[in-house]
Amino acid sequence: MNAAELLRHRLATAAPWLAAARERVAQAIACGRLAHALLLQGQSGLGKAALADWIARLALCETPGAGPCGTCTSCRLHEAGTHPDLRRVGIAEDKKLVAVDDIRELIAALTLKSYRGGRKVAIIDPADAMNASGANALLKTLEEPSAGTLLVLTVSRPERLPATIASRCQRIKLARPERAAALAWLGVLDPVTDWQGPLALANGAPVGALALAAAGAAELEREMAELPGILSRPDADVVALAERCQQQLPAERLRWIENWVTERIRRGLTAVVAGHTTVTPGLPATARRRHIQGLYRILDEARDGQGALLRGSANVALLFEHLLWTLARELRSVRAERARG
Ligand SMILES: [Zn+2]
Repeated sequence: MNAAELLRHRLATAAPWLAAARERVAQAIACGRLAHALLLQGQSGLGKAALADWIARLALCETPGAGPCGTCTSCRLHEAGTHPDLRRVGIAEDKKLVAVDDIRELIAALTLKSYRGGRKVAIIDPADAMNASGANALLKTLEEPSAGTLLVLTVSRPERLPATIASRCQRIKLARPERAAALAWLGVLDPVTDWQGPLALANGAPVGALALAAAGAAELEREMAELPGILSRPDADVVALAERCQQQLPAERLRWIENWVTERIRRGLTAVVAGHTTVTPGLPATARRRHIQGLYRILDEARDGQGALLRGSANVALLFEHLLWTLARELRSVRAERARG
């Protein structure tokens, strides 16, 4: 983790929308009823990895209370990143999936005795990036866990996790906070940044908004805001624009388009109801209705595209090319219609 990632991780650990989950786990530990496998489920950008880490720390803490004590040997080892009874498995930098060998190694380590005489904890983050072999290897451990074992799995795409795995874990569902609460939390961290854009691009997930702001969300928004204007011109290089979208933050760009189209439909419908034409000035009523129908089709396409992107099944370049062409045709037809009117 670099410094910025570490900071986000620390902040997420104390996030208010994770408080209920933290309390639930702390209570289970206090009552001696902690399940041997937890499944943290929620959209990306909520701080699942940070929560998994907090749970590991609490489960290993030698004087646990409502949270990890922070001062015992175990907590200090955790802080230093050298706790011998904690293992993490994730996606290697140049890979797309969790390596099967990493899972096997983890399982072998869990069969050994605990170094410090307490629990042995393993975090698999993200667990929905295991392939079938990885999941099968893990299944046996979930069926017959050795004493004192705690597995913490994170998933943002639960449909990708085999039901055999999910059914053997205690599921903890995490929900994003209300928009106002998320903006308030972000505003405390950084009162200067306008968080509305990054939060919308992160689909309402505050930690995701932090990461996006760091990755240049403001720049992306400025760039995307020019897209409709560019696309409505007949000489726009749609292929080059699609290429650009595919290269950097494609999911966020799709979400930007989705949000933009949604807002345009909303304003268009309001205008139709109110009988004025502020959104599409100079457009006859029938053309305006047709335009709104066209926007709905684009909205569907943008949403389907996000789904495909999440599932990893999309040809991203093709997806953007098709979407931008559809959008370009729609915007150009409106422009032509207006010129006629
Ligand atoms: Zn402690």
